[in-house]
Amino acid sequence: MPKKGHIPERTCVACRIKAPKWDLIRFVAKEGEVILDERGIFPGRGAYLCKNCLPKRTQPKILKKLKKALRIIEK
Ligand SMILES: [Zn+2]
Repeated sequence: MPKKGHIPERTCVACRIKAPKWDLIRFVAKEGEVILDERGIFPGRGAYLCKNCLPKRTQPKILKKLKKALRIIEK
């Protein structure tokens, strides 16, 4: 049986698919905004989208999920 415990898996916040973290695109919260962390350099909590959901990131529904995952409080 293959060991897979060492693969860091993340979940796409939009479609809930699980994938290795390097297959997903990371977002972080910065000053209350959702920022695309293209190079994975920003510290702190990250939220992830898969490549299929990436084009939908500006849709209100998806943006809301990102904000929730990043603990951004909407006014
Ligand atoms: Zn997805």
